[in-house]
Amino acid sequence: MKINLNPNSQPASDSSREEKIAAGGFGKYYTDNMVIAEWNEATGWSDAELKAYGPLALDPATSVLHYGQEIFEGMKAYAQPDGGVSLFRPTANAERFNKSAVRMALPEIPVEDFVETVHALVKQDIKWVPKNTGESLYIRPFMIATEVGLGVRPSNHATYIVITTPASAYFDPSKAVTVWISTEFVRAAKGGTGAAKTGGNYAASLLAQKQAAAEGCDQVVWLDAVEHKWVEEMGGMNLYFVKGRGKDATIFTPKLTGTLLAGITRDSILTVAKDLGYKVEEGMISTDEWRDGVASGEITEIFACGTAAVVSPIGMAKSSQGSWKTGDGEPGQITMEIRNHLLGIQHGTIEDKHGWNVRVK
Ligand SMILES: *Cc1c(COP(=O)(O)O)cnc(C)c1O
Repeated sequence: MKINLNPNSQPASDSSREEKIAAGGFGKYYTDNMVIAEWNEATGWSDAELKAYGPLALDPATSVLHYGQEIFEGMKAYAQPDGGVSLFRPTANAERFNKSAVRMALPEIPVEDFVETVHALVKQDIKWVPKNTGESLYIRPFMIATEVGLGVRPSNHATYIVITTPASAYFDPSKAVTVWISTEFVRAAKGGTGAAKTGGNYAASLLAQKQAAAEGCDQVVWLDAVEHKWVEEMGGMNLYFVKGRGKDATIFTPKLTGTLLAGITRDSILTVAKDLGYKVEEGMISTDEWRDGVASGEITEIFACGTAAVVSPIGMAKSSQGSWKTGDGEPGQITMEIRNHLLGIQHGTIEDKHGWNVRVK
């Protein structure tokens, strides 16, 4: 895919950009440029264009607006100690994007084209990459069905877009979150779209998120759709349970059953935890085992993980059956060790033994 460079002729001034980066938050301000490419069934992918960030003009009958045929990715570029910038495991995002595309009947995009378009945009807008640890440039590649018409069928036209936004730490890492275990709503069932990164999964989660907020909780924990018993994910993040203490601890995560989203942070932590000398295990954990495990002290720490927040400690769980505290309710030691180690690799202050960082500059 050729990338035609036609960058914004009126980028933000240095002071305006610095102000927007310093404002922090997540997804409040976007960088000067975006990348866009079009696909149609007859001719395949067009060249990509890097151009000024701005609104899209869509016919009101555009398919995605009615039937939600869309996919997205979330990934980050991190400032490096030598003044450079690295992407973290971009090929893994490209491969997952294509898995989501297949499930949502959208066209795949060659892995190298996905990575090159992301690379080109970050390179163009490199001054937008925040410098402090925990901060990053969040990258949002996505694809929408852009056939015009209300007929229900896989779209014969698709639009691929990449946008970027400076991000501070998504959650306050020093504060453990409280989660609401939803027994009323489900996120994903076997044969559904739980393993695809698609907007509809998020749309379907918002009512449960509202309910969680009404219960005084920060996030929803999803259980399996059949027995409403097995713990799957938290919001848009995967979950980890620390069993035991010190170097004998086991770091446990729910296994990928087809209804969970295969997080790249989840996968990276399986490796990082092993590198740090912990045992790792993928399996099933029920809500009863969660409650009894924190009560007996067998489960010592719980955390969620994903690209946006990296690692987010869970201090308290609530459900219609009561509430259970993890340890003393504060962020756990192993949780913070894993968080700091992974962030260290991403920011280039800890050796990247697995070749995860891809330099942009
Ligand atoms: C994106 C996402 C995750 C986390 O994936 P990462 O690759 O680690 O960012 C977990 N669960 C859901 C539902 C997601 O959409």
